[in-house]
Amino acid sequence: MTVRVRIAPSPTGLLHVGNVRSALFNWLFARHHNGTFVLRIDDTDVERSEQQYEDDIKSGMTWLGLDWDEGVDVGGPHGSYRQSDRFDRYRDVVDELIGAGHAYYDDRSPELLDELRNKAQKEGKHPNVYIRRPDTEATSGVVRFSVPQDAPIEFFDLVRDEMRFEAGVVDDFVILRSNGTPTYHLASTVDDVDYEISHVIRGEDLLSSTPKHILLTRAMGADPATYAHLPLLFGPDGKKLSKRHGDTSLKAYRAGGYLPEAMFNYLSLLGWSYDSETTIFSVDQAVERFDLEGVSKNPAVFDVDKLQWMNGEYIRAIPPDDFAQRARPLIEVELGHPPTESEWSIFVEMSPLLQERVKLITEVGEMSRFLFVDDVDFDEQSWSKVMIGETPVLALSVAIRHLTELGDWTVAAIEAALRAVLEETDLNPRKGWQPLRVAVTGSQVSPPLFESMAALGRPGTLHRLSVALNRLADEPEG
Ligand code: GLU
Repeated sequence: MTVRVRIAPSPTGLLHVGNVRSALFNWLFARHHNGTFVLRIDDTDVERSEQQYEDDIKSGMTWLGLDWDEGVDVGGPHGSYRQSDRFDRYRDVVDELIGAGHAYYDDRSPELLDELRNKAQKEGKHPNVYIRRPDTEATSGVVRFSVPQDAPIEFFDLVRDEMRFEAGVVDDFVILRSNGTPTYHLASTVDDVDYEISHVIRGEDLLSSTPKHILLTRAMGADPATYAHLPLLFGPDGKKLSKRHGDTSLKAYRAGGYLPEAMFNYLSLLGWSYDSETTIFSVDQAVERFDLEGVSKNPAVFDVDKLQWMNGEYIRAIPPDDFAQRARPLIEVELGHPPTESEWSIFVEMSPLLQERVKLITEVGEMSRFLFVDDVDFDEQSWSKVMIGETPVLALSVAIRHLTELGDWTVAAIEAALRAVLEETDLNPRKGWQPLRVAVTGSQVSPPLFESMAALGRPGTLHRLSVALNRLADEPEG
């Protein structure tokens, strides 16, 4: 089987996760069948299309590893893969269709068309069913496709099985606007025919367009592609996925600390499953197993919490060096400059502990901030919870003494010293160590205490313990 599939986003907004899921399924299908994956840009809407959105589409796909074999930038045997370059071709097809009686000019007034729609509506029919070829021939206006009324449109959808649309419910749809620009139906179908697309894999929202595309394809004298309509994405509350459920642009997830591998894995599960139990698998494994027969008809749930959990799993699975390198840009942001050698080695010492704790790479910045500042910004909530009464004063002052006297500044030695603090003060670890943690890292939630102190070094640690002690001394009682 020769597989040629395409993704055809419109560059009128940021790449949406729904489109990314479609792209990913097309890509998996192409790779599984050693086929060709095409990236086409559907920019017939010249007004709303913008270069920045095309760039966002391409960089998003590249980030996720969805490389395309033909299409914008990489080229291919079909000339341009941008619809705005192909208006002459669409025009030619329209002329041929008119010549062959498959399409006609329609100059009826909007009022007249409204009347026809109202009539249909009153009879409980599809609002457009009376929009059929009038008796009089016009020579200008929009161009409509003349839907043959002799037979229903039937096709086998690889996800939804047998599909059948009565010809009567498909209106004579517009293929060319009066300003000469093609509609989506025309441009998309002509491209699918010209680029010899074998399988059209796209969201179910386009299912009702498919009978139109099939009729157009036949009128062009070609064989329709095989269709597969993917289930729509819903939020965990069962409503159609929208901003209410979280970010919907891929860009937001890239910026939000997700790894492309995790995103890939998660998106591949939206309508497909690897087997009945495996949730985490590699790209190669997915390619090996993927097929459209395994795609479900049921709506797929996009659940940010599950994605975040999966991201945490992926973060813990990468080698420590790799993790540190991926976190590097965030450290650079924290510092405001590329890390110096000593700053970098402080971070690298802490890095495996952060790797254990974060679900998003972006959390690394905040969690390691304390390492690089002269004085920590105390998280006021942590401060007011922990730094109350006499206990913190006692814990801090005894710790300062023990840590000052300490020989080696190693994790093990620090731990021994801090255990001695508990013994001397008769405090439990929570009471005795939480004040030290807040003093050193600024927050109750931090990487482990001994390691944090070790990475920070003795002078830095002692300085922070004293700053906290002084602040406590300055605070009014009560
Ligand atoms: N430009 C269309 C979209 O982004 C393409 C749909 C299709 O795959 O046919 O929705």
